[in-house]
Amino acid sequence: MFGRLRGKHPKSADWFRCEGCGEIAQGDGAEAMLAVCGACGYHGPLGAQAHLDLLCDPGSFSAEGPELRPVDPLGFRGKLRYRDELKAAQKQSQLVECVLMGGARVGGKPVVVAASESAFLGGTLGAVGGESIARAFELGAAEQIPVVLVLSSAGFRRQEGVYAAAIMARMVTQLAVLRRAGATLIVIGAGHVRGAAALVGASADVFWCEPGVRVSWGAGDGHKGVGAGSVMPRSEQREQLVSLVRAIG
Ligand SMILES: [Zn+2]
Repeated sequence: MFGRLRGKHPKSADWFRCEGCGEIAQGDGAEAMLAVCGACGYHGPLGAQAHLDLLCDPGSFSAEGPELRPVDPLGFRGKLRYRDELKAAQKQSQLVECVLMGGARVGGKPVVVAASESAFLGGTLGAVGGESIARAFELGAAEQIPVVLVLSSAGFRRQEGVYAAAIMARMVTQLAVLRRAGATLIVIGAGHVRGAAALVGASADVFWCEPGVRVSWGAGDGHKGVGAGSVMPRSEQREQLVSLVRAIG
């Protein structure tokens, strides 16, 4: 597993075992902050808040929809009760749900930004996560400003069944509204991007994928990912996004 092994090293909290090359790499500041291996360039998981910190002007993010909280509409139980899975995910991630969304500035220009958290049930989109992305499209269309999505999602959240399916339909409908309004959609794929999230990425004006990202449509873990969009390392995302948003106007 790639990640910070905080508190287990006697001298430094900024070291990690890389899943790409197997080396234990000492973090040296910028690369460690971005969870990128300095030896081989492997991009490890980076949380939703860390992605927002990377892309947005400092202090500019203002969350929308904090009142939205996930529920267990079906009383679903797999290996665990869904309500217990939610509590565990909230505790682990320190988030209420897997999508952070709101207004922000990039290079001084207003944008709507949303980022999904893969550590929260795989970034799967249920009613709340899907609603957050649908609202991002609504805001972008209403304000005529770019929408920036960072997607790391295993797709549809099966624990919410038809409720998750219904919100996917709303998400796609609002995506069409955004397209008709002429606002720009920029998607950055991080980790594994599947299902509805992949379809959103395919509909974007600009689709950047971090190195190693898999993008796939269809069911089954054996489905091979297909490359889509251009590869964009984390170290270049901020500068490239500022240039793009300023060029849009
Ligand atoms: Zn490595």
